Amino acid sequence: MIQIPGEIYLVGGAIRDRLLGRTEGDRDYVVVGSTPEAMLAAGFKQVGQEFPVFLHPETREEYALARTERKQGKGYHGFLCDFKPTVTLEEDLRRRDLTVNAIAEDANGRLIDPFNGLQDLKSRNLRHVSEAFVEDPLRVLRVARFQAELFEHQFRIAAETEELARQISASGELASLTAERVAMETMKALETSHPEQYFYTLATLHALEPLFPELAKSWQTAELTMLPGIRALKVAVELNLSAPQRWAALVHDQSQETILQLGGRLKLAKTFTHLSLKVKRFGPAITRVEHASAEEIASLLQQLDTFRNPKNLTQVVAVLAAIEARKTLSHYTPLTILEGALEAAMKVNNQQLIKQGLSGKALGEAIKDARIRAIQAILR
Ligand code: ATP
Repeated sequence: MIQIPGEIYLVGGAIRDRLLGRTEGDRDYVVVGSTPEAMLAAGFKQVGQEFPVFLHPETREEYALARTERKQGKGYHGFLCDFKPTVTLEEDLRRRDLTVNAIAEDANGRLIDPFNGLQDLKSRNLRHVSEAFVEDPLRVLRVARFQAELFEHQFRIAAETEELARQISASGELASLTAERVAMETMKALETSHPEQYFYTLATLHALEPLFPELAKSWQTAELTMLPGIRALKVAVELNLSAPQRWAALVHDQSQETILQLGGRLKLAKTFTHLSLKVKRFGPAITRVEHASAEEIASLLQQLDTFRNPKNLTQVVAVLAAIEARKTLSHYTPLTILEGALEAAMKVNNQQLIKQGLSGKALGEAIKDARIRAIQAILR
């Protein structure tokens, strides 16, 4: 058994989510009265570069030494971090963003709540812990993400917290956030039950323009709730689509250049941009597929690379269903037709053609013809 050198408290999201009756995510612990040396000697592995955060050798859960943070100068790296063993639990909780994230629980299950997080949980308030909230621009994104995450529990951002977040936006500090930070919060927001709230909140906090200038430009002319991208995003959630699919739904009416620019600037995982571009490129042909010939369908399946990777088909078509506001994928004609065509075309026996002595270009042509015939047969 590992002996943890110090007082241990569970903190943050795990407590918030449990009290709300939500599935608990990662468990984060704070250790009061310890040092990095004592943690390492007890067998913990240090993971934080800038902060003293350690991984439990058995549970792999995160244990951070209690710390205070003070802003020093401009930019995201301008933090002075103090993790002396004399730092108290309350001091550690004070540096946190929202009161609902600043509740701790001791080893006996007793809650420690110096900033009235319990009251805010009850009254569904996202409220800053202290005026130091303005010191970290990431908190604007976090507040927007929590609004998306907790919207189904009727949470609202406190007016004073909105005011502080707007101060951050006005200060120009959002520009100091790295692409990775912005992308990470955005990906987390996309996976929530109300990702549209993330974008609405950023707009309310005057952070949309600085963070997503590409989107803000084309969005400024319309009410956000009415935007085709936002509408498609909401249906994508109802269809339970993945984060890359939700992103593709959101940007479906943006230009190819904008999609590439956003993906590049935010350093998004390649699947996000690839899928978005596929939806743009093949969307028109897929949605009209009932009027297509067997040849055109075979070519579409080929271009979507569905023969090697059949999952590509539903991945793209489901986004188109969201764009067309279909609340279910069953009976979505393009999907039914293309799935049927793919199934038929996949039955073509390539080995048999090889046995007939075909190879190279001739084999390729023969496979293509056989697939077209197979598709033709089911279209009749
Ligand atoms: P989730 O796991 O749903 O993302 P979480 O609240 O656990 O929610 P983490 O990012 O894991 O979020 O952070 C753990 C805790 O650390 C938070 O609950 C909060 O108390 C604190 N925290 C994290 N990032 C910040 C920040 N930028 N400013 C202030 N406090 C923060």
